[in-house]
Amino acid sequence: MTSVAQRAWHQFVKEGDTVVDATCGNGNDSKWLAERIGPNGNLVAFDIQEDAIRSTSAVLEDEVDPELLPNTRFIRGCHSTMQEHVQAASFVCFNLGFLPGGDRTIVSQPTTTVAALKAAMAILEPRGIISVLAYVGHPGGMEEYKAVQEVVMQIHPQDFTVLEQRILNRPNSPVLILLWRRPG
Ligand code: SAM
Repeated sequence: MTSVAQRAWHQFVKEGDTVVDATCGNGNDSKWLAERIGPNGNLVAFDIQEDAIRSTSAVLEDEVDPELLPNTRFIRGCHSTMQEHVQAASFVCFNLGFLPGGDRTIVSQPTTTVAALKAAMAILEPRGIISVLAYVGHPGGMEEYKAVQEVVMQIHPQDFTVLEQRILNRPNSPVLILLWRRPG
């Protein structure tokens, strides 16, 4: 589903954009974003775990041509503080759950995820996109997905268009929710 998400992002994320990776984890999404936005872009990467910040920083350093790296800022902290760190962005992604290969008890939580989603909506530019990949197979994952769903279903359709993609024949696969901020 991550590759499905990244394929969807391709049509929205452009060279020079300011983007937020709200859960940078092992750095795969940040790497994709860095390569897409290039040296004129700005990337802000959040994670609550120092290990994740270290991994993402190493991936960007080792795997992206230094000449092509965007201006990058790492925030070790909760993504619900997003508005304290970012004024405006055209793209924000959340890849929820736990750090693969890390401590599975450190996992995104419905309350902070919903707060962060609202913060992302507040900083998102017109025509910007928020992408939420919600995992439903681990303990608490379904509750978190439902909390996100409850929020997005109440958004006025004049403000955002919200769509959901899931793999129907793999019920435990993650669900992709995309929020598109309508112009004007
Ligand atoms: N995007 C990552 C990648 O490409 O490798 C994968 C992210 S992983 C599935 C989820 C990450 O969310 C974990 O690294 C975890 O520490 C982080 N996380 C959980 N709660 C968070 C929070 N409140 N704020 C920021 N990051 C959080």
